[in-house]
Amino acid sequence: MNLSLIKNIGPKTEKTLNKLNIFTIEDLLTYYPYKYNIIRFIDINSANSDENCYILAKIISNAKVSYIKRNFNKLSFLASSNDISFNVIIFNRVFLKNKLTIDKDIVLVGKYNKIRNVFTASNILFNIEDNRIEPIYHLTDKIKNSNLENFIAEGLKLDYNICDYVPDIFNNKYKLLPKNTAIKLIHQPRNIIDIKMSKLKLIYEELFIYMFKINYLKQNNKKVLGIMKKIDKNYIEDFLCNLNFKLTVDQEKTIDDILNDMQSKRRMNRLVLGDVGSGKTIVAIIAMLANYTAGYQSAFMAPTEILAKQHFEVIQNYFENYSIKVKILTGSLPKKNKEMIYSELKDGQIDIIIGTSALLNADATFKNLGLVITDEQHRFGVNQRSLLQNKDIIKKCDVLYLSATPIPRTLALTIYGDLDLSQIKTKPSMRKSIITKVISEKNIKEMLLKMVEELNYGHQMFVVSPLIEQNDELDVNSVNLLKEKLNKAFKNRVVIEVLHGRLKQKEKDILMLEFQKGNINILISTTVIEVGIDIPNATMMIIYNAERFGLATLHQLRGRVGRNNLQSYCYLVTEDTNNLRLKVMEESNDGFYISEKDFEQRGQGDLFGVKQSGELAFKIADFKRDYKILMQAKIDSEMYLEKSLYKENLLYKNIIEKINFLD
Ligand code: ADP
Ligand code: MG
Repeated sequence: MNLSLIKNIGPKTEKTLNKLNIFTIEDLLTYYPYKYNIIRFIDINSANSDENCYILAKIISNAKVSYIKRNFNKLSFLASSNDISFNVIIFNRVFLKNKLTIDKDIVLVGKYNKIRNVFTASNILFNIEDNRIEPIYHLTDKIKNSNLENFIAEGLKLDYNICDYVPDIFNNKYKLLPKNTAIKLIHQPRNIIDIKMSKLKLIYEELFIYMFKINYLKQNNKKVLGIMKKIDKNYIEDFLCNLNFKLTVDQEKTIDDILNDMQSKRRMNRLVLGDVGSGKTIVAIIAMLANYTAGYQSAFMAPTEILAKQHFEVIQNYFENYSIKVKILTGSLPKKNKEMIYSELKDGQIDIIIGTSALLNADATFKNLGLVITDEQHRFGVNQRSLLQNKDIIKKCDVLYLSATPIPRTLALTIYGDLDLSQIKTKPSMRKSIITKVISEKNIKEMLLKMVEELNYGHQMFVVSPLIEQNDELDVNSVNLLKEKLNKAFKNRVVIEVLHGRLKQKEKDILMLEFQKGNINILISTTVIEVGIDIPNATMMIIYNAERFGLATLHQLRGRVGRNNLQSYCYLVTEDTNNLRLKVMEESNDGFYISEKDFEQRGQGDLFGVKQSGELAFKIADFKRDYKILMQAKIDSEMYLEKSLYKENLLYKNIIEKINFLD
């Protein structure tokens, strides 16, 4: 249903809501608050000027308007509360003037300065409800929390029916709220129990659907036949002898798993989980080599063009002395070149094609595609997974996923339950641990000295900051401000550039390329560099406002350095130097250890990149926080599937159609 049916939503507001991914009434109603403010009125006597508070008051004088400058005005009036009268001021709310009539009861939100006897209000509420619970939503510019609250309230009045995906047996078993009730209460809870019950329902539902899909895929994958490949092992042995390093035990084990899959009659559907720098690329290369010896083409997909280019260079190098033809296909190639590549893929001249996932969306046809690999798989979700597997051209292909999300094994087995799993835990032995230090900005001198030292060696470094523009309210060191500061500190003697998500792809590519070539000494960026780029000459990672990042992101970021045999350093700059998460980073370089710790420290966190990824971005559930519910949903959905109960449920028929698994 259309958003415009809701009172006060015009075309402009609709556009703003679209930015929050709200396109329909259902989207609006399922846009859940991420936390609640519990409003408790306090006595004006205990109010102060440091903390926001809620005061019940009565208006005792008419409001006066003063215009301070353009776009800046002030309303002031007298109010009383508990026999104390005081001045109230509120900025830029001239439109409230007529509502502020003498003797009216209102709720003042803001801070009270006792000495001046002035209450500076940030908001005035006219609905007086005792101990109200205010839902707080993620917002974007031009929309206020109260706006969203009102739109949702209007939406709820429409009695719009939202499908309940929890099967009756489980609704009854756990006494879950009906979906519509849960939706209403999550936005308008009357008490803590309402919050708890509505969340439980919605979280369980989300996880149940997720686990149902996973289990469904798992059941079907078992049945899917692939190609029984004849692999030339001598050829692979030869290749391995020419490598200038020895494979780690886990790399060898993983390669064994992969070769076995490829030789069996079942199709391979395997996930390689390995920490950053554990050497997943070489494993993928050997899989492609094996596939080549069996007479098939391979496709290797990376999440970004930068990464695709890097893989292309590495892979081409490895196969320099082999008659294996490797090509890259990216969106930015001229049309003519693309068409050339298409035709070479079709007649089988190309053995290995590298690109982004657009590779398979494009009209590429292959002579005999036998293996598809996706790198950094944690960026893709279960729907994309099934889509990939169902593409006609790869229906029988072996599929291999690489992911740098070291998560506890039991969790991996659950959320990636449709895939077989290989883990690479051991790291190449020449790797040195990255020395990690948490420092406050006051003690930054030590870090600057280390930077000078490393710059003198000709080494490069990354500086990461969470935001693009200076934002007073958040007081975050933005990347631009950092550039200024660092230019000052280094007296403009080194080349410092800024990379952020708002740059055009081309600009980003150029910057990365220049950095790779060594023409940039310090690259300041937002987290866009998170994914897999290899700059062996970079030895320092400096992360500002480190407390704002989850352990997973911090670990991924740190993994950008230490990719050679040089000693590398990571500085976590923060005012919160006792932060437990940051301590874990100081303590260990081991992704699996860190992920266990991340898991133990429940609450806020970003479970190793899993949450950022497309399909896994749940609206309300969180694998880590809701682990117990996840496990229950796993068991329940297995039962639902095994007993074929889903066949009588239209909603699940639809889900399955969407998973669109073709036999
Ligand atoms: P990731 O798992 O993060 O994708 P890469 O595959 O990019 O890691 O490997 C990082 C670096 O380690 C590469 O330069 C690669 O050549 C090197 N490497 C991989 N395996 C080994 C090994 N067994 N011994 C030494 N170096 C290795
Ligand atoms: Mg990689």
